[in-house]
Amino acid sequence: MKCILAKPRGFCAGVERAIHIVEKSIEKFGVPVFVRHEIVHNRFVVDQLKEKGAIFVEDLHEIPSGATVIFSAHGVSNKIYETAKELNLQVIDATCPLVKSVHRKAQEYAAADCFIILIGHSGHAEIEGTLGQLPKGRINLITSVEDVEKLPLNAKRAAYLTQTTLSAEETCDIICTLRKKYPDIQGAKSGNICYATTNRQNAVLSICKSANLLLIVGSQNSSNSNRLRELGEEQGVKSFLIDSVADLHKEMFDGVSTVGISSGASAPEHLVLEILDWLQSNFAVESIFEEQLTEENMKFPLPSELKD
Ligand code: SF4
Repeated sequence: MKCILAKPRGFCAGVERAIHIVEKSIEKFGVPVFVRHEIVHNRFVVDQLKEKGAIFVEDLHEIPSGATVIFSAHGVSNKIYETAKELNLQVIDATCPLVKSVHRKAQEYAAADCFIILIGHSGHAEIEGTLGQLPKGRINLITSVEDVEKLPLNAKRAAYLTQTTLSAEETCDIICTLRKKYPDIQGAKSGNICYATTNRQNAVLSICKSANLLLIVGSQNSSNSNRLRELGEEQGVKSFLIDSVADLHKEMFDGVSTVGISSGASAPEHLVLEILDWLQSNFAVESIFEEQLTEENMKFPLPSELKD
């Protein structure tokens, strides 16, 4: 058996920053530190931070007045900021700067009186946060090409935004359909899909040329990890999204000669290494090769409250 590792894989700059924010806050303010929502969508990361003294909540009312709360990398609605203020909570914002820039764009489009369309997955934390930048109903959420048909024809000054972790191909089809319907529509050419999503998807596409089984390490609620698994399936490669080595069993590899491995932007590297160890213990692995498509040097600074 051969193993090919996709690179880039795993943590992106937004996830590294968000985890660092929780760790630094614990260091600076002591325990417990409260975090609204999973800081990133990975249960190992969340469990590790719990062990260090972070308490994860969904509702700000669970937090004692005056305490510090960290908002997750996915971003939050304006209502959440207001509630934190009413409850006298000290906010440290771990929203990824790339998600923040989508929020700013939504506000700019609203100020220009645009008809705003957001392409993304209903119910995802990032989408809730972006929709919540403007009053309810001001942004129109769509998920598919079919949804474009349902939008009004006579929308003047239309503009679109996207979730940062979508499939590039699917988004491209939706944007093309929007451009046909609204020839003057504003919006970035490939939407707001971030560099990390794009790089991980391209790296998976590349290893799918040689792999006949694809393992994506990531949690079930991780949007970008799900897109990587779907991409593998679209290439005709049997693909699994797995949380950890515990999800593997030998029968999955019947008839498999080359295993492709990648991980979502919120999945820690040790999970990938454990999978390699498991494969080596259970099969005759003749080679492990890392296929690096591009180099990532992105780094985001910490919020001012946590700078040394
Ligand atoms: S996946 Fe992209 S948008 Fe999301 S946290 Fe990472 S860098 Fe930021």
